[in-house]
Amino acid sequence: MSIMLLILLQLLVLVSCAPPRCDPGFRGQCKPTVEEKPKCTDVMLSYCDDMPYTQNMFPNILNHKTREDAEGSAEYLLLSVLEALLGGECNPDVRMLGCSVMAPRCEKEKVLKPCRTTCEAVRKRCSHAFDRIEMAWPYFLECDRFFVSDEEGCYDPLEGLRAEQNEEEVDGMETPPEYRDDTIKFNHHTNAQMISILKKTEEKCEDIARTYSIGRSIEGTELLVIEFSSNPGEHELLEPEMKYVGSMHGNEVLGRELLILLARHMCSEYLLGNERIQTIINTTRIHILPCMNPDGHDLAVSGLQDNNYSEDEEGEEERPRYDSSHVGQNNAQNIDLNRNFPDLTSIAYSRRRQRRYRTDHIPIPDSYWFGKVAPETYAVMKWIRSIPFVLSANFHGGDLVVSYPYDLSKHPLQRNMLSPTPDAKVFKLLARTYANAHESMSTSSARCGSSHGVSEKGTVNGAQWSSFAGSMQDFNYLHTNCFEVTVELGCEKFPAEDELFQGWHENFEALLTFMEAAHRGIKGIVKDEDGNAVKGAQISVRGIRHDVTTAKNGDYWRLLTPGVHIVTASAPGYAKAIKKVHLPGHMHTAGRVDFLLKKAELEPDNQQEEDSIPPVGSYDRFDPYNQYERYTLMADVTQNHPESAKKPWWWSYFILPESPEPTWLLKHH
Ligand SMILES: [Zn+2]
Repeated sequence: MSIMLLILLQLLVLVSCAPPRCDPGFRGQCKPTVEEKPKCTDVMLSYCDDMPYTQNMFPNILNHKTREDAEGSAEYLLLSVLEALLGGECNPDVRMLGCSVMAPRCEKEKVLKPCRTTCEAVRKRCSHAFDRIEMAWPYFLECDRFFVSDEEGCYDPLEGLRAEQNEEEVDGMETPPEYRDDTIKFNHHTNAQMISILKKTEEKCEDIARTYSIGRSIEGTELLVIEFSSNPGEHELLEPEMKYVGSMHGNEVLGRELLILLARHMCSEYLLGNERIQTIINTTRIHILPCMNPDGHDLAVSGLQDNNYSEDEEGEEERPRYDSSHVGQNNAQNIDLNRNFPDLTSIAYSRRRQRRYRTDHIPIPDSYWFGKVAPETYAVMKWIRSIPFVLSANFHGGDLVVSYPYDLSKHPLQRNMLSPTPDAKVFKLLARTYANAHESMSTSSARCGSSHGVSEKGTVNGAQWSSFAGSMQDFNYLHTNCFEVTVELGCEKFPAEDELFQGWHENFEALLTFMEAAHRGIKGIVKDEDGNAVKGAQISVRGIRHDVTTAKNGDYWRLLTPGVHIVTASAPGYAKAIKKVHLPGHMHTAGRVDFLLKKAELEPDNQQEEDSIPPVGSYDRFDPYNQYERYTLMADVTQNHPESAKKPWWWSYFILPESPEPTWLLKHH
């Protein structure tokens, strides 16, 4: 769906790069190419310029007479978007296979054909990726039709690639039986490499790891999550779930690289029998989204290359600092994802004076959907509504501090005002947990950036630092049961590769310790007298105006600081149950507090309560007018091609003006 923009861009590029058309008004410019005997030419298709040869021939094997013919074809369009469509899988293998047919190798004025064995191997490995998006294996990659055997004199179109891949494997991605991660290289990864590493990690640790997609960026890159659990793919009763989200600002790359390293580390250490990692995975369900803004990351990388280039020209510093650059901070629509969530904080403030106001499960106002909602934001909102997360951290760069909600100041005119949540104590504890376990965050000498002066031992209230609306951590707290903090990992947003090891060294203990913090406080099950789980029951703590609710199986988790707490469980139609809980300091597992609810008549004060509690069902209203789809999918495309309603989501993008429909892309045609 979001491929649309990308393709429009591609088309633009094609149009602007094509040489001037043959205009009969200008004599001499046009030569009749058809009658000439075809010759080898240097001009390659731009998506094929990494092939292991330099000359090709037109007409090609598909009988495109000129380069322009080839570039204007649906076949070439497919090659140009294949990486995005397949989420980076089988890239560049399938594209190079296609290039061997569309830009065939030419030597001594003769076309050389690619090997059938190569084609068959790629098809075996990659046809499932096409199945996944309901696309047929492209006809021009039919191994029997366009590829030949060794005896007929073929060449291997993936020759150059093999050498590269072998090198990669030596880097330690697949080096069984030695799993130790000291073979892991500390370098930056492209989006496709990141996806491939996560999938390889899933393969290597199939018993405890699973990858899944939560959606796609506006330019079509998969937002891939890797999950670690003793029972991947399922919520287990009473097991807390936590998440890490990297690089929602695409130019702040350390978080992304740390989370890729963390995933690999957890997998290899688990296999090696590391007890701490095994305990974490056996007792916690961990979800890692290394990069929430892959398009911004791409922009940041190209911005960086430009930057490097100009520095070289002027012969200035050898390693320029990029901190000043905002290129790639936003997504490809230029939306700052950390300002794009519904502003529920203002709603919480406006309710402050109501009796019994609550600061949890605030519904998303309908008006939100009429603004621009980035697909990345949309995907993450759906994700955090669908899983009973307890704890979360999202990673940024440019400062060295952990910030906790609220991010929006409680006074609209004061941009640096301490604006704590009702759970300020818990949030400070969580922020300190990360900062103290970090190599240097909590020591004053290591501070940098604008938080200096307002932060305290490496922690800071978001609004006191700098107030803004629509942040992800505020949304987590006010809309769900999840407590999220924002970790600023260091002064440099885009550290050089040789600084990545240092970053890993500084953060690795904190990353594990913070995961373990999901076991603080209390947890339990709420049941009725018949032993049935009560879903959606409210767990309230006296003195904290923020409830958590029970999940599907009646289980709940309430992060709390040590001390004495009065805890109440309630649900409509039941009498409240109250318990006094004493939580000693230094508890490493959550205290178990179960509740039994007895049926009761509606309590008399329920009527009043309804004034302050949103009408039933409004929490479930998520994009009720389908605004998101209307905006992002640009409905006019489907309107112009009503038949595409029954076709796969990518179909309309391959409809080119004045060209036959590429029905060969359809599986059941
Ligand atoms: Zn940031």
